[in-house]
Amino acid sequence: MRQRKPLVVANWKMNGSLDLVQQMSDALSVLKQPLPDILICPPVIFLSYFPKHANYKLGAQNMSEQLVGAFTGEISADMLRTAGASHVIIGHSERRALYGELDSVISQKVKVAVDAGLTPILCVGETLQQREEEKTLQVLARQLDAVYAAQPHLLAHSVVSYEPIWAIGTGQTATPQQAQQVHQFIRQHLAQYDVQAADAVKIIYGGSVTAANCEALFAEADIDGALIGGASLKVADFSAICTMAKDS
Ligand code: PEP
Repeated sequence: MRQRKPLVVANWKMNGSLDLVQQMSDALSVLKQPLPDILICPPVIFLSYFPKHANYKLGAQNMSEQLVGAFTGEISADMLRTAGASHVIIGHSERRALYGELDSVISQKVKVAVDAGLTPILCVGETLQQREEEKTLQVLARQLDAVYAAQPHLLAHSVVSYEPIWAIGTGQTATPQQAQQVHQFIRQHLAQYDVQAADAVKIIYGGSVTAANCEALFAEADIDGALIGGASLKVADFSAICTMAKDS
């Protein structure tokens, strides 16, 4: 019997509409228990349009590392809480690559999120070149250490998402064995900070997860769910993934 309850996260990125909010909430509301933990991370403007007291939680895709002040265009952790978010994705590879987010900023964001009562979902992952050069574990260790080496207490409040960059939006999913090998490494690496927290932390997989390939991923011992981009915009597919995760 798996100790960690599976978590399925929808990352809508800069997609979606009020129609999708309605369709997704309607579809999820009729799913039968038992369910995994389900989290929808839409563009923040949609957060307040989701019904309250649903069988899923809401999250954001990013937040400021600052608490308050003259930071045009930014949103604070407290504001996200007020808008109904319980979680926030931090360090997604698109933020790292397109917006130049550095490990130091990501580390600060994780701290600010936890301090505000949000659960950070820390994304880590390697490029194709790094994988081919056999640097995957080294890159992941650096990304994890940047957050937890100086702040090990944050681990007990975090979710970690392994997202190989070469698998995001490409249709090229990591095999269950490839993903399990990395998830196991992440858990073992995190144990140096806090053995109990490393055992309890949910490590979810992201990268071209679909209703067709999720079952094999969920069957792996250290894969505790998924972070889903493209397939989370398709109501039937996302519902099917949630249904399969609950059985893992
Ligand atoms: C993602 O956005 O983190 C992601 C995994 O996207 P996709 O499922 O489309 O690969």
